Amino acid sequence: MIYKKNKLNIDGINIDFLARKFNTPIYCYSLKKIKENILNFTNNFNKINPLICFAVKANTNVKILKEIKNFNLGADVVSIGELMKAIKAGIKPKKIVFSGVGKTKTEIEYAIQKKILLINAESKSEILEIEKIAKIKKRIVDVGIRLNPNTDAKTIRQISTGKKENKFGVNEKIFLQLVNYVRSSKYLNLKCLSVHIGSQILSHKPYQKMLIVLDKIIEKSKYKFDYIDLGGGMGIDYSHNNTKINLKKYSSYVEKFIKKNNSKIIFEPGRSIIGNAGILITKIIYIKEGFKKNFIILDAAMNDFMRPALYAAQHKILPLKKTRNRSKKSYEFVGPICESTDKFATIKNFQKLNEKDFLAICDVGAYGTSLSSNYNVRPKPVEILIKASKVYIINKRQKLSELI
Ligand SMILES: *Cc1c(COP(=O)(O)O)cnc(C)c1O
Repeated sequence: MIYKKNKLNIDGINIDFLARKFNTPIYCYSLKKIKENILNFTNNFNKINPLICFAVKANTNVKILKEIKNFNLGADVVSIGELMKAIKAGIKPKKIVFSGVGKTKTEIEYAIQKKILLINAESKSEILEIEKIAKIKKRIVDVGIRLNPNTDAKTIRQISTGKKENKFGVNEKIFLQLVNYVRSSKYLNLKCLSVHIGSQILSHKPYQKMLIVLDKIIEKSKYKFDYIDLGGGMGIDYSHNNTKINLKKYSSYVEKFIKKNNSKIIFEPGRSIIGNAGILITKIIYIKEGFKKNFIILDAAMNDFMRPALYAAQHKILPLKKTRNRSKKSYEFVGPICESTDKFATIKNFQKLNEKDFLAICDVGAYGTSLSSNYNVRPKPVEILIKASKVYIINKRQKLSELI
């Protein structure tokens, strides 16, 4: 996104034009950016030639999944619904892995029926359940076991998943027991060791630590895993001040790791593929003077975009029109919902705004629409995709009649 003659543009299209044409709020994605992100990812890891499975929970729009599929990515899913969407988008089942701590019988049966690449189990009970279903179906099912490596991802507490107090994966002791159990099972084929230590990770160091843990446990297990699934979690630059994770460094550690362990690497990136490829376009309904600050009341709210309310995530907000007027103001950007956490940001020294002005909330491509809800009986926004400077509606705005 860049300003051209003080108007914010996305891939050559004036965003103000989009706001007027489609009404707000709008989720708007750039295919160019998605492509850039995928190329950046594959280039950084080209030496290890990984299978890249897009974490569908980051963005579940089928049209977007289709575009991502066209770059040869697979999918990481965490529910039967996501699995169905991935298949609907044309992603081959042999490129789909299924994660999650609570897969139900129905979900496991469906995954087995579709012959997906891997079911990554997260507990002993789940392994037994998969085995039971495989036996009834007279099938041998490829599984992975998710290890909890007890590695601090040094990220927001709510999105850390690889520490021993987190619900994900199994500890070393149980992991080794399960390896022994599965290797002698008639109905399970142990293919993969999986991990995923958290999200929005901005340093390569937690990954380096994680690989050391993996190295040790693989040695202890005396088992040759066809796949090592390292999960996702690579962070993005929400603050727009060049805080980037060094993927090349991460890649060099993985290179060393596979020299020794010689397995196919799987990655499950979500945020790093789609996060900065989406904006939420919104209009100012009212401006209200409050105690010591002015409230900018937007037509987008926490139901449309949950991250700030859910874990105080910070997102850049940009005016669609830059004004020449030099006067600056302090603003609190809020939605109309009846919750005090329905707040996007407090920003000092913002350009002076007026009612009916449009704004863009940046970097909402990941965990934006996928976390959205109909709270306060608010219909979900229209979603549009910019592809080669053309605009495509990839999800219509929900109608009130669908909700009432
Ligand atoms: C959420 C999740 C991911 C994706 O995480 P990002 O931070 O979006 O890259 C990958 N794997 C698993 C198992 C997940 O739960």
